[in-house]
Amino acid sequence: MKKNFDIAVFHGDGIGPEIMAPTLAILDRMAKASDSYGLTFTDAPAGAAHYVETGEALPVASMDRARNADAILLSAMGLPDVRYADGTEISPQIDLRKALTLFAGVRPVRVKAGQRTPLNMPAGREIDFVLIRESTEGLFHTQGCGEMTENEARETLLITRDISEKLFKFAFGLAKQRKAAGRGPGRVTCVDKANVFRAFAFFRAMFDAEAAQHPDLQADHAYVDATALWMIQKPWDFDVMVTENMFGDILSDLGAGLMGGLGLAPSADIGLDHAVFQPCHGSAPDIAGRGLANPHAMILSAAMMLDWLGVKHDNAAMVADGTRLREAVEDVVARGTALTRDLGGTVGTARAADAVLDALFVA
Ligand code: ATP
Ligand code: MG
Repeated sequence: MKKNFDIAVFHGDGIGPEIMAPTLAILDRMAKASDSYGLTFTDAPAGAAHYVETGEALPVASMDRARNADAILLSAMGLPDVRYADGTEISPQIDLRKALTLFAGVRPVRVKAGQRTPLNMPAGREIDFVLIRESTEGLFHTQGCGEMTENEARETLLITRDISEKLFKFAFGLAKQRKAAGRGPGRVTCVDKANVFRAFAFFRAMFDAEAAQHPDLQADHAYVDATALWMIQKPWDFDVMVTENMFGDILSDLGAGLMGGLGLAPSADIGLDHAVFQPCHGSAPDIAGRGLANPHAMILSAAMMLDWLGVKHDNAAMVADGTRLREAVEDVVARGTALTRDLGGTVGTARAADAVLDALFVA
């Protein structure tokens, strides 16, 4: 029996619609070929262009669609010259994160042997780790409303038991899942600065408490500064890393750098009931409308969606399709014959996406 899943789709701004269209075409083709799942896509208008047209960046109807969907696919949103009247940036993705309590920002970092990377990789090494960035509190707690006088400015670092416990539970669950799939040793590293800040000692204590519930998994700690060094010196040693919001923000860009750029970096924002899948990059207005955007990060985010839905609904075929889609993109990148300009190639969005379809259905 085919189970149908309803996907809310935010096409976004700039290159957003250009990378979303081929991604939906690939997903549609995979779902139609599957005996066990179907996908229905429902558009959820939102974003900077929508704000210019209607005065609303995230209409209630789109929010409701997201809330009621089985999963949410989102490309990039926001444009540099479009802002709310008070000057703040238009970022419905952040509103979604808050409204749906999507506390776990999941950023997989993967470099296959032979893939282009700025690192000097020892022969035979591959990078395959996941960085989990807490996405609702931490150093972003007072974002935009910290205290400020003429001579002083202050922001607050907030770590709560409620969110931390959920976050660590999620991190160990993911490590377990990766271990079962043969993708890691089943190790979670808590990245903090517990030697200096009490808030991080609190963070670490809750991590240790969750770790004690998982005797089958390994747990260790690393200071964030040392982590930045090790991500360059021995990134293949990491499996699952979990950290505070701002640290995660910075380290995930470092991770994208290891992969050779933003055009290959997928992400997911996951909560207890909802999840948004979107590329790490922005709306790239500098190349929008020219068919040049790299669709791979968006397609890899869609692969994460299949994986998440499959695990959540116990649908092994869907999990397998998630893996198949990720591997198809990795094959295209490794082969190097259909790369967009950001990866040093010459092809446009359509050809780069077609190469993934070929890897899935022709090869
Ligand atoms: P945001 O604030 O939304 O994160 P940003 O200022 O970080 O945006 P991006 O929109 O991510 O910027 O773009 C950064 C650079 O990377 C730009 O030069 C852009 O053209 C390039 N870039 C981003 N995404 C892609 C992509 N999918 N394909 C090709 N180039 C991209
Ligand atoms: Mg950015």
